[in-house]
Amino acid sequence: MLASLLIANRGEIACRIIRTARRLGIRTVAVYSDADAQALHVAMADDAVRIGPAPVRDSYLLGDRIIAAARDTGAQAIHPGYGFLSENAQFAQAVIDAGLIWVGPDPASITAMGLKDAAKALMADAGVPVTPGYLGDNQDPDHLADQAAAIGYPVLIKAVAGGGGKGMRLVERPADFADALLSCQREAASSFGNAHVLIEKYIERPRHIEVQVFGDRHGNIVHLFERDCSLQRRHQKVIEEAPAPGMDGATRDALCAAAVRAARAVDYVGAGTIEFIADASEGLRADRIWFMEMNTRLQVEHPVTEAITGQDLVEWQLRVASGEPLPRAQADLSITGWAMEARLYAEDPAKGFLPSIGRLDAFDLGDSVRVDTGVGQGATISPFYDPMIAKLIAHGDSRDAARTALAAALDRSVVWPLRTNAGFLVQALRHADFAAGDIDTGLIAREGEALMPATLPSEPTLAQAAARVGGAGALAGFRLNAAPQRQARVLVDGQPGDVAIDAPLAPAAGAIGPAPLARTLVTEQGRSWQVTPWRAAISGAAAAGDGAILAPMPGRIIAVSVASGDKVTKGQKLVTLEAMKMEHGLSAPFDGIVKDMPHDEGAQVQEGTLLARIVAEDAA
Ligand code: ADP
Repeated sequence: MLASLLIANRGEIACRIIRTARRLGIRTVAVYSDADAQALHVAMADDAVRIGPAPVRDSYLLGDRIIAAARDTGAQAIHPGYGFLSENAQFAQAVIDAGLIWVGPDPASITAMGLKDAAKALMADAGVPVTPGYLGDNQDPDHLADQAAAIGYPVLIKAVAGGGGKGMRLVERPADFADALLSCQREAASSFGNAHVLIEKYIERPRHIEVQVFGDRHGNIVHLFERDCSLQRRHQKVIEEAPAPGMDGATRDALCAAAVRAARAVDYVGAGTIEFIADASEGLRADRIWFMEMNTRLQVEHPVTEAITGQDLVEWQLRVASGEPLPRAQADLSITGWAMEARLYAEDPAKGFLPSIGRLDAFDLGDSVRVDTGVGQGATISPFYDPMIAKLIAHGDSRDAARTALAAALDRSVVWPLRTNAGFLVQALRHADFAAGDIDTGLIAREGEALMPATLPSEPTLAQAAARVGGAGALAGFRLNAAPQRQARVLVDGQPGDVAIDAPLAPAAGAIGPAPLARTLVTEQGRSWQVTPWRAAISGAAAAGDGAILAPMPGRIIAVSVASGDKVTKGQKLVTLEAMKMEHGLSAPFDGIVKDMPHDEGAQVQEGTLLARIVAEDAA
């Protein structure tokens, strides 16, 4: 077994690799950028090396620096994780040339799978079914149009060097072909430096099904069954599961055998994934599942395979890299139960899924399911890297058990003040079609609106929170022939809201002066809000520099202690309001001059009425 390992990555995957390495007694070395100096993976590793500034091209993509870091720390091997340099054949070769162990496949396997057309041709030769289409060298536009017609519309034009969902054009009608081809070639040339395209039959309502494969240096190749990653948002996986819903034994056998053939065709060593696209319009059928591409690395979604097989795939990678044979033979691998993973992103669904960056003041994902994360409470999410902050993985006896456990864990997740897609994931997991296993890659795009999480907590949750935070903002109201009702005004993430409450309110914190800013988070359906009493809000507003003093509730002014133009000091009493048989003193939030004093003693005022305004002396 290896003695030491450098992990050329960050975030959850670096932490996950370190955990297994530590269990196996391997010394670990982390690398980090300036933005990650305080990151969890750095704290977890035995040793850590700074490699450069925050941008990835100046740090995590600098292969030479990473190899130098391994040499300087005496690390014996490099694990690339996923993303970054993990599928870079030149880097893999440089690692090997430096006399280090590359935890991954041979550079030649990476290269063979690097171009879509070459990979498809190689797979077709190996007897792996590939999506019907044209892979030829003849790139003459008329010839390509003839090929598209022969394949039958709709077709997909794909840049052979494309990736990450870029360089693809869906063409529905022959009349649109020429323009789409030009635009695809332009994008391919500028993004990938290679204008070559292939043409594929466009599969409508497809499912994304992939097979985990593993090879060693002793000629063994096994598969660890399939995963279904059909739930995608803009071609990005969101929820993954294993096994695939609706997969029968015979279809699974055919698919997994094709995946092993694919791996064998490139003498595959280590962890790899064969991605297939399935036309499931009439259920999953072996003759309607086609090779799409091979990923020559560990996948983000590998934990669902770990859960159903009881294997640690990082341990497998490290054993294979050490030259050991695969830990299990095919006959010793089986599926137990069902597993489902959700990718938690720091992003705001209400703002078009824009990344939500800043400090994680509250971060608690509970411990009811497996959580793979690279951050903790207090961490800062920077704009430099992928906003995925955690993966939650549930395992149960049945698909429904895994699904409901995952939804419940996300439902309770507390993340604040950053926004996450947790509420969106909960809606997706509870969507009737998803629950029924009736999925395809277009489900999220079709159901978009229906999956949007609530932007405010529900009435009962808000009422409980209001009762808890209390404060002077509670009003008792009586309705004829009805039970007495109390209303509370609270601030929900800074926005005022009224709520009816049954329970008696907690007493206000001190009758005079601003209440301390309460920190109360309420969590519902995967979203957290801060609920503060209205009174606290006044001090909050004052702290923000706004000297407006508003009535926290309806009442009568019983004393006016200052006059317009007076100089006041912070904390000096300005007005006394009588409401709910109590006196509430309202005082200056900061030193300044009294600007407005619109009401006299005895005046009745409504909630929110301006009682006084203080301005800073230099602004007066
Ligand atoms: P990339 O390398 O850019 O990720 P892929 O070839 O892996 O591109 O395809 C990405 C996604 O595009 C797939 O997961 C699937 O949702 C969709 N897709 C790819 N090929 C087809 C096809 N022939 N028909 C329909 N959808 C497709």
